[in-house]
Amino acid sequence: MAKWVYSFGNGKAEGKAEMRNLLGGKGANLAEMSNLGLPVPPGFTVTTEVCTHYYANKREYPADLRAQVNAALGQVEKITGRKFGDPAKPLLVSVRSGARASMPGMMDTVLNLGLNDVTVEGLAAESGDARFAYDSYRRFIQMYGDVVLEVDHHHFEELLEQAKSDRGVSLDTDMTAEDWKALVAAYKAMVAKQLGRPFPQDPQEQLWGAVGAVFASWMNQRANTYRRLHQIPEEWGTAVNIQAMVFGNMGPDCATGVAFTRDPSTGENEFYGEFLINAQGEDVVAGIRTPQQLTILGKDRQKSKLASMEEAMPETFAQLCDIRVKLERHYRDIQDIEFTVEKGKLYMLQTRNGKRTAAAALRIAVELAEEGLIDRKTAVGRIDPSSLDQLLHPTLDPKAAKSILTRGLPASPGAASGIVTFSADEAETLAGEGKAVILVRVETSPEDIHGMHAARGILTTRGGMTSHAAVVARGMGRACVAGAGEIRVDYAAKTMSVRGTVIKAGEAITIDGGTGDVFKGEVPTVQPELSGHFATIMEWADSFRRMKVRTNAETPLDARTARRFGAEGIGLCRTEHMFFDPSRITAVREMIVADDAAQRAKALAKIQPFQRDDFAELFRIMDGLPVTIRLLDPPLHEFLPHSDADFAELAKTTGKSLAELKARAEKLTEMNPMLGHRGCRLAVTYPEIYQMQARAIFEACAIVGKETGRKVEPEIMIPLVAMKRELDLMRDHIAKVAEEVRASSGVEISYMLGTMIELPRAALRAGEIAETAEFFSFGTNDLTQTTFGLSRDDSAAFLGAYESQKIMTRDPFVSMDIDGVGELVAIGTSRGRATRKDLKVGICGEHGGDPASIHFCERTGLDYVSCSPYRVPIARLAAAQAALQAEPAKAAAKPTAKPSTERHNRVLISAGRRAAGSRVSAGRNFAAPTARLGKKKPAPQPVVKKPAAKKAAPAKKKAAPVKKAAAKKPMPKKIAKKPAPKKKAPVKKPVKKAKKK
Ligand code: PEP
Ligand code: MG
Repeated sequence: MAKWVYSFGNGKAEGKAEMRNLLGGKGANLAEMSNLGLPVPPGFTVTTEVCTHYYANKREYPADLRAQVNAALGQVEKITGRKFGDPAKPLLVSVRSGARASMPGMMDTVLNLGLNDVTVEGLAAESGDARFAYDSYRRFIQMYGDVVLEVDHHHFEELLEQAKSDRGVSLDTDMTAEDWKALVAAYKAMVAKQLGRPFPQDPQEQLWGAVGAVFASWMNQRANTYRRLHQIPEEWGTAVNIQAMVFGNMGPDCATGVAFTRDPSTGENEFYGEFLINAQGEDVVAGIRTPQQLTILGKDRQKSKLASMEEAMPETFAQLCDIRVKLERHYRDIQDIEFTVEKGKLYMLQTRNGKRTAAAALRIAVELAEEGLIDRKTAVGRIDPSSLDQLLHPTLDPKAAKSILTRGLPASPGAASGIVTFSADEAETLAGEGKAVILVRVETSPEDIHGMHAARGILTTRGGMTSHAAVVARGMGRACVAGAGEIRVDYAAKTMSVRGTVIKAGEAITIDGGTGDVFKGEVPTVQPELSGHFATIMEWADSFRRMKVRTNAETPLDARTARRFGAEGIGLCRTEHMFFDPSRITAVREMIVADDAAQRAKALAKIQPFQRDDFAELFRIMDGLPVTIRLLDPPLHEFLPHSDADFAELAKTTGKSLAELKARAEKLTEMNPMLGHRGCRLAVTYPEIYQMQARAIFEACAIVGKETGRKVEPEIMIPLVAMKRELDLMRDHIAKVAEEVRASSGVEISYMLGTMIELPRAALRAGEIAETAEFFSFGTNDLTQTTFGLSRDDSAAFLGAYESQKIMTRDPFVSMDIDGVGELVAIGTSRGRATRKDLKVGICGEHGGDPASIHFCERTGLDYVSCSPYRVPIARLAAAQAALQAEPAKAAAKPTAKPSTERHNRVLISAGRRAAGSRVSAGRNFAAPTARLGKKKPAPQPVVKKPAAKKAAPAKKKAAPVKKAAAKKPMPKKIAKKPAPKKKAPVKKPVKKAKKK
């Protein structure tokens, strides 16, 4: 007989922490806490398998479920000495969801279940507090009515407001037992009217209604959105936890609270939390009452006047402190706990690993390692690489003039400016138009999640550090100021006002989620300093990392930034970006419209010194680290003038007529430029272009070599090669130029020649291409485009539909399609290395900065990944984690003296699991740049002020160009090559080349 229900309580449990897939996170940890002997109210968990069964069987439960639930309920009755539905001593329960991965506030909860017209009297008599009993009953009717019976909550709120105003009171605490009794009657009447049937009085009916509602909530809109944003598979299902109620609202010796064993914002080793005296479960997180701090330190820091728990309930607080230590030592990680105090007795309702900011994650990992609770490898493995993005967020320029409006709580770090909007939908729309938005709400709820995701920052006027806004913003890495109580929001008028200053929707404000400050207007920001715990984790990560991490950069600013972030060279310098500078674009255009080689050479000669100086500067900055320079890649028409003024200027410098120029432009325009005259095809027709670039590179080598006394050995990369012969031709042109520069400068020229692999043909024919190429760099942006036949510039319009119809789970331009594109990368690598054992292999498409793709690169044995400067730390960490993940597999795979079949099988199985697992977990990144298919990437939060066009260089070429001329145009395209003859020995270059590194 299948086991669907697992009991816990009374110092023991049928489940344990490791069973989270079956019991959900909450259920597994309730079981674990029971086993640890902590005070957990007894209860039981209905497994996630029931949820899966429920959805697989037309919402029917397994046949034997009811019997198992009744048996488990019987045990709870035995432990508590109460009976479900008993008129004198009723057992009341909570019914809560609990998925495998935590989904805060995403699904529904029902408290006080088991109350009805009879049991409420029993509760009143037993507690000697009719007011408490009827308060609990009215809460239950409201929660159950809303969650299970789907009666709109405003009906309840209206009746509550009416009751209070009839009584002339404003606080719930001023309501008497009679008032609540009357409200219960009014609620029941309203529910009966809305539904045409009475509110269910039978506790069994209530229980099964609530269980059904939890399972149904797994598929509600906000849970679906949350799952999509966090890549949680639908098939996981949720468990249901049914647990004896304990009451934090029975009087002044009762309380309820939430706490983190360390500060989740900073990671500081201080007990951190909030509680409310005489309140029930959800009151703290709901942000309805301003919570009190747990500790005196917290109270002082928040400048709160309310007593801390340390002062108000010292004994219970001391007990909680012991549990804090016990849980941290047991779980070896920061815990996020919920507790209730009933008549002075402490109960633990939940523990889970605490969500934390990236800064806190770093500090906690380092300090736990230093405390000896975890080792360094575990510490490195604990950090979500994509979350480092949060640390790269700007902070406010301390020197900038600021006009402070007010202050709230520093709920999630980072500074953000944007225009004010009061609605989540509008935030999404405006962000889609490329506007920076600050979402301002009285408080947020799970319905706002899409707007929070789209916004640069979130500002709320109500709620604490554990309010919905604070928890969700921290998880997403959005700046957030919560509980800025001085602000009055008028949703109807679309304004917010603070002491006479009115800000309308559409006007700019700035928030600082690190301090809680709110400013009027836009305040300039500065880049963060990356040191301390960040540096420690990076250093540890580097010690475990096998692959090198380079950067994609062509400007000195980007190159310097990348080095600061730890880049170990340049993996892709897109030389075309250097052409768009206003001082050179005219010469570039002269080159493009040239009638013959001589004219072209003349124009190229003008560009050459600029290129030489650019390269020299990059060599200086990289100071001996490898620099891969890709020769011109995009189709020439991208450099053509667009405006009449540009055409007129070109006519003047070239002496050609406007008509001639326009005709030339027309001729260069292609139907499908991504598959047209681009990449090395340009140099097949106009070799002078690559010759000029090679000369600029070699001259720069000579200059910097002389300056530093150290040889500069660039890696020259030919784009869009499909056939070996293409590369051979380029090799010969370049070798000739190298020899010429050697002769003229007297400096020995060393270099490596390699190619991008961005066409399926190149990957398939990698064996023969490697006869000429000394290195490969997988250009997975184009390789994805050409493998799928999917335009990287146009696919965003329909990839959303691919996601919703489950054709794809992630945008393949963001995270590599391991099955298809990945197979080509693996084929290209192994065939290339079969020809040339020491072939250097890297990746320079956007995937080089994506953790899941980096794991794949590690498994495939690439030598390095290259990514945009701001992703370098992410890539360093992800590469270390990938290497660590591969480590046990490798170690286990080492042949032992006596090979054992069993051992071998185990290795294979676990390696397979790891591979699958890494894809799922690495995909679950809050801060992934394009979390949703079909959505434009939220503009990366700039760490350094850079020219807008450069920032995005990424997957879409359109985003890459540097100057305005380029910014409008689609970016580069690439090409493929052809089969090559039989294998030859690697070709000797006429000039001495660099050694592989
Ligand atoms: C690529 O295609 O992956 C690549 C890095 O080149 P680009 O994005 O410039 O086409
Ligand atoms: Mg490319």
